[in-house]
Amino acid sequence: MTNRAVELLSNYIKLDTTNPPGNEYLGAEFFSRILESQGILFKTYQSKPGRASIRAVIKGSGQQKPLIMLHHMDVVPAKGDEWSFDPFGGEVIHGYICGRGALDTKSLGIMQLLALLEIKKRGIKLRRDLIFLATADEESGGDCGVEFLLREYPDDFQAELILNEGGYLIKDDKSNSLVAMISPGEKGPCWLKLSRKGMPGHGSTPHSQNCLEKMTKAVNRLLNYEVPLEVTPIAAEYFKKLAQSWDVLKPYADDGREGTLLKILADNGLLAVPQISAMLRNTISLNMLKSGDRVNVIPSYAEALIDTRLLPGQDLKQWLQLIKNQLADDEIQIETVLGNEGNASDMYTESYNMIEKALLYYYPGAVVAPYLMTGTTDSRFFREKNMPAYGLCPVEVPPDDLKSIHGIDERLSVDSLIKGIEVYTEIIRRLCV
Ligand SMILES: [Zn+2]
Repeated sequence: MTNRAVELLSNYIKLDTTNPPGNEYLGAEFFSRILESQGILFKTYQSKPGRASIRAVIKGSGQQKPLIMLHHMDVVPAKGDEWSFDPFGGEVIHGYICGRGALDTKSLGIMQLLALLEIKKRGIKLRRDLIFLATADEESGGDCGVEFLLREYPDDFQAELILNEGGYLIKDDKSNSLVAMISPGEKGPCWLKLSRKGMPGHGSTPHSQNCLEKMTKAVNRLLNYEVPLEVTPIAAEYFKKLAQSWDVLKPYADDGREGTLLKILADNGLLAVPQISAMLRNTISLNMLKSGDRVNVIPSYAEALIDTRLLPGQDLKQWLQLIKNQLADDEIQIETVLGNEGNASDMYTESYNMIEKALLYYYPGAVVAPYLMTGTTDSRFFREKNMPAYGLCPVEVPPDDLKSIHGIDERLSVDSLIKGIEVYTEIIRRLCV
């Protein structure tokens, strides 16, 4: 198993599915060869030339609706000169499988494939169809991937549950305990382009209609706005579970009051931790400013691009109104480049409990906690269609290696992968038998 899994992941990483342009057909061909050799039914879908997705199925008795194992085949670009190994070399170095996609999400794809093959090989009788789904275009918004599939082939993708990316196992530095995460929800990206015109002029004679000055002042008003904290149901449950290993959270686990939680987090400086802060509020990040091209010329146009993220349950329209009010400059045009509300699936389900139990079986003493993803994934398309999706990728990742996702030197240890395959297969078996 070890050699085969490592070889599969290594070969998968070697396929350059950098998006853009994607070329996910390489991944679809890779999977179709393996599926064909094992006699597993599959179908490929092409949204545009080179942009393929693939679906394979092991039929069950139909007592329950299908389970979909989902991952995306595309990866974000990698600048090879910044890496200490070839991002598309698929090398194994000191016990690590190295390359773009080792974590996001080619390892998950291999775990799902091997779970599928194992269930097929053992001839396990299933009470529902088990679907393997490898898609294109997650990294650029999903238009050529899941969005396309659900729009054009809705009947092929009806499921009771989708298991997708998210939810790693992370060793918590503070308590030294292992936190196993399941992600039932994620924030919604709302990207805004602000633009403003103004009166040009000579830099030697400043006037009051300098659009760049107006823009920076307005953006500063927005950035100074203190976004209120909100404890979503996922965050509430997350911190309650974390209290099992974080003594400082015990009073909250005892009384369950929001006020208690927020006071503990504030008193211990935890609200300043970006990941914790982002889990508890909508965020605003100024990431691009464009204006002017000479130091002695007052520009006539200024532009700012702002990445905001909404918690599940927040209303997009109200949020946009709030942004407008904070900017307090009617001459600024606000264009929504991308506007998604946050989304979450019910976490009080039999499937969730089953996954939690399986994780605890393999990792006794771990804290299994629901996690609100601050980034965005293809899960949102399924949740929009009222199909629950959980993020689950049961591989142990050192906190430092998380930075390699979309960063440099992405890698996953062979040991984590091998144990992950065993755990994942068992979880799928329990959910389908
Ligand atoms: Zn990604």
